[in-house]
Amino acid sequence: MSGRPEILFPLFAEMTKLDGVGPKTAQAMVAIGLEKPRDLLFMLPYSGVDRQRRDSIRDVVAPATVTVEVEVGAHTPARKKGGPYRVTVQDSGTTFQLVFFHAQGDYLQKQLPTGQRRIVSGKIEIFDGIAQMVHPDHILRPEDAGDIPAFEPVYPLTAGLTQKTMAKAAASALDLAPALDEWIDPAQKARGGWPDWQDAVRMAHRPADVAALSATAPARTRLAYDELMAHQLTLALARAAARKTAGKPSVATGRLQSKVLKTLPFLPTGAQDRAIREISDDMAKPFRMNRLLQGDVGSGKTLVAFMALLVAVEAGGQGVMMAPTEILARQHLEGLQPLAEEAGVVLELLTGRDKGRERRAKLEALKRGDIQILVGTHAVFQKDVEFRDLRLAIIDEQHRFGVRQRLELGAKGQAVDVLVMTATPIPRSLALAQYGDMDVSVLDEKPPGRTPVKTALISTARIDEVVQHLQKAISEGRQAYWVCPLVEESEVVDMTAAEERFKRLRAILGEGVVGLVHGQMPPADKDAAMARFVAGQTKVLVATTVIEVGVNVPNASIMVIERAESFGLAQLHQLRGRVGRGSTASTCLLMYQAPLGETAERRLMILRESEDGFRISEEDLAIRGAGDVIGTAQSGLPKFRIADLERQAALMEVAQSDARALLAADPTLQSPRGRAARVLLWLMEQDKAIRLISVG
Ligand code: ADP
Ligand code: MG
Repeated sequence: MSGRPEILFPLFAEMTKLDGVGPKTAQAMVAIGLEKPRDLLFMLPYSGVDRQRRDSIRDVVAPATVTVEVEVGAHTPARKKGGPYRVTVQDSGTTFQLVFFHAQGDYLQKQLPTGQRRIVSGKIEIFDGIAQMVHPDHILRPEDAGDIPAFEPVYPLTAGLTQKTMAKAAASALDLAPALDEWIDPAQKARGGWPDWQDAVRMAHRPADVAALSATAPARTRLAYDELMAHQLTLALARAAARKTAGKPSVATGRLQSKVLKTLPFLPTGAQDRAIREISDDMAKPFRMNRLLQGDVGSGKTLVAFMALLVAVEAGGQGVMMAPTEILARQHLEGLQPLAEEAGVVLELLTGRDKGRERRAKLEALKRGDIQILVGTHAVFQKDVEFRDLRLAIIDEQHRFGVRQRLELGAKGQAVDVLVMTATPIPRSLALAQYGDMDVSVLDEKPPGRTPVKTALISTARIDEVVQHLQKAISEGRQAYWVCPLVEESEVVDMTAAEERFKRLRAILGEGVVGLVHGQMPPADKDAAMARFVAGQTKVLVATTVIEVGVNVPNASIMVIERAESFGLAQLHQLRGRVGRGSTASTCLLMYQAPLGETAERRLMILRESEDGFRISEEDLAIRGAGDVIGTAQSGLPKFRIADLERQAALMEVAQSDARALLAADPTLQSPRGRAARVLLWLMEQDKAIRLISVG
């Protein structure tokens, strides 16, 4: 399919083609994302006004919006500039006044000629004991009364737009909306009692009553489903394309894996075993793996990753693991190096800090195949990094990368198996929206022997007590993190706060006891500070959120977070996950600036009650919006106009299985339903998907 189907042309024409839309209005519409008639169709009214006719306003309890037929009486122009211009009117039961400010008398005379009948609609208010309607929404001749719908939709507006323009333009866009062949599974459509697409947009824009505005109204649900279906089709197409990409089957012998497992002081959890098996099975298949490993902090993802890397090596190839930060990459190196040595596997680190001769030497060793496992930062994906036989790429802490980046990575065309890992448990609906193209393994079990972290809320006013507590803990040989407030999205401001806190704590706790890391530090200093903390030389590590992901220091058992209310729940959960890794009981102190708002308090209480990342993420989603939870901008999570991920999670699941089933039955979308689905993709502007089917 080379281009947009003709049937959709009118919906993708200029906005000015619509009734009442001139260049200026069109310009104003752009501000709220309306660039063509299609956009207007998906901008649904969010409210409605009852405009049913009544005989009189007499029994109305003001303020209220009423529509009534009146006889126009006397005009009383404004006495001074800016004053009210009044027109007395009479309905079948009483008189009241229409009031206008900054009115042009001759215009009003024409609109409301004394002695004639008019329908007026607007808000009745009582002012100085007199009922009045200021700036009626509608003034019509009785014969045009039908122009006011009994229930009038209310659209989102912006400067330069009025409800009237929007209603007129929307009506005109509806006239352009064609009847389209059905892309939804007939059984699903029947189950939901959903109308055809054309009827659905009409019904959504012409609600008969308040119930029709609800997200559960069949027309709206159908339109929401269309959005989700288009998104899931895109992901399913990406998944199918990835699966079609021939991969190298990497068959594990288990030789290296069992060597490593034997040296571990513990057994893998059931969940780890299952994940390792799922990954090994995928890697053995002749198509490319595209799998997500989701597991809460401390669930032991690193071991699973290492076992997967060993599969690549056992099969005679190489593996690479990318971490989002230098600290994490180094930590992976330190944790995995001994295991690699045990297995007789060469593991190396490559980061942006490798330069010159050393870097060249590493690259050559990689190319020769002398390095079998490479860990590092995004430096490992630079153009000149070549492998002899790369089989597996692992991306750690995936939530920092978006759907788009991941799809791009997959599009690089190497036949490499891909495993992404995320420590941010996200609600199922978001997981489907974000990772619908992938297969998922979940580590839903934590290694045994963890002591739960005790979480407490403390006002900043009691900071002295906190420091005393810390002093005592240090004397008992414990270690602590102290996370500084997230003042703004600015590293520099964060840094200042952290440096301040560092100096103060050092003054109290003593020279050499307190360390500092923040994002702006020279990398070597950062490493050194981390190393001193890991070795137990420093007892307290003052930090910004750079320690958020992955850092593992089992002896650290206290986590202090300043201004906890300014962090996201997921972030707090991650930070807390830095403690509770050893055998000593751990504490997390959430310090807040009083007074706490209601929502902030509710959020912090959730943390006190639960250590279950999945539960926390569901609550987080309930309190905040979907985009907020992952941060739409960085997550690459699509913005849905109609669908509501919080409330329509179940719909997303249906859309995913429907999309996957459709593609399984009709991989190239050639059947009648497949062709209809293509139109849907064009309608929903799923460029990525369209490219995938054009190629395929
Ligand atoms: P995360 O999933 O947050 O990346 P890690 O892989 O860093 O978690 O593991 C956290 C800690 O748990 C590490 O110290 C690791 O050695 C330990 N660990 C991993 N698997 C097990 C297990 N099956 N039993 C006991 N400890 C384990
Ligand atoms: Mg980790």
